[in-house]
Amino acid sequence: MTPDETKNALRVAAAAHGFQAFGVATVAAPLRREYYLRWIAGGQNAAMGWMERNNERRLRPENFLPQARSIVMLGLNSRQPPPALPYRVASYALGEDYHNFIFKRLKKLCALMRTWGGEQRPCVDTAPVMEKPIAEQAGLGWQGKNTLLVNREHGAWLLLGTIFTTLELPPDAPERNNCGLCSRCADACPTGALADPYRLDARRCLAYLTVEHTGDFPPEFREAAGNRLFGCDTCADVCPWNRRAADATEEKLRPRPLPPDLRDSLAWTPQEYDARFAGTPLKRLGLARWLRNACVVLGNTGTALDLPALEKLAAASDPAAAPAIASHAAWAIAKIKARAAAPDVPAAPATPDGG
Ligand code: SF4
Ligand code: SF4
Repeated sequence: MTPDETKNALRVAAAAHGFQAFGVATVAAPLRREYYLRWIAGGQNAAMGWMERNNERRLRPENFLPQARSIVMLGLNSRQPPPALPYRVASYALGEDYHNFIFKRLKKLCALMRTWGGEQRPCVDTAPVMEKPIAEQAGLGWQGKNTLLVNREHGAWLLLGTIFTTLELPPDAPERNNCGLCSRCADACPTGALADPYRLDARRCLAYLTVEHTGDFPPEFREAAGNRLFGCDTCADVCPWNRRAADATEEKLRPRPLPPDLRDSLAWTPQEYDARFAGTPLKRLGLARWLRNACVVLGNTGTALDLPALEKLAAASDPAAAPAIASHAAWAIAKIKARAAAPDVPAAPATPDGG
């Protein structure tokens, strides 16, 4: 097959595996290395220390797979309406863990490419790879002011998979930046994490604080968290490039059952939690962070009906544990009681955008 025929055959196979977006970059594509290093030097990666390591591979894709010639980028649409719940879980986390099923599909594509004489290395957000700048070079979209990859057709909702290959495939034209004068994402961010366009301050970002951050929820961001239990979709939701985006068709992303009220989850054991969320991104969060976040959400949106479960949790939790669930429960109790004492002040609304 010619390189064009190989690329087309791969595009067809990728579509058959559920990927809606496909593109190829050369392994020598420019990746804004200086920008990344400045971001790290400014400490805006918060406690994500792994982002400071392996930069000789992260910033030089040619070191990721010796003799690699091309990088295939694949995108899978994750947009879906939020379930009717009084709290929010990020769209990508409602169903199965995408790392698992996307990786399996990449491996199948790699096996096919092997029959064409290529050596491959796949990854899904699990290796030091600059996925979004590479996707931009492969024409899948541009890295917007919200730092997400924005695609003309699918908006800000593509989950990315990457295959490094020794096959020489014709590269696509890089996508140009189409943010223009828009600032909707920064304007909508409840914590000011996008104060500098194109630069996310993870220390202020609710997607980081609710998921990756392991300690206490910083008091200064608890109210801003609103009803966000896991992740934050706000700066993706508001992007005007979503207007042509369809909802996800991927069965594995379909929402798994979640408790209708967070108070029902406050008495779960770690075993119950793990069994309930096996195979989903919520499993990696673990019960302690779930309880921490649930207290924050209930503090913002809860009512007197939630007080008995919160009081029980406060009494049962080890005050020396990290995160300190007892103190988060006490915070929630105090917030709910303060609202009850001032009935003219409504509880924070459980709006679809999490605010
Ligand atoms: S994910 Fe949420 S908190 Fe983080 S930058 Fe986007 S809007 Fe702000
Ligand atoms: S909301 Fe506007 S500024 Fe932000 S990524 Fe989308 S187009 Fe760019």
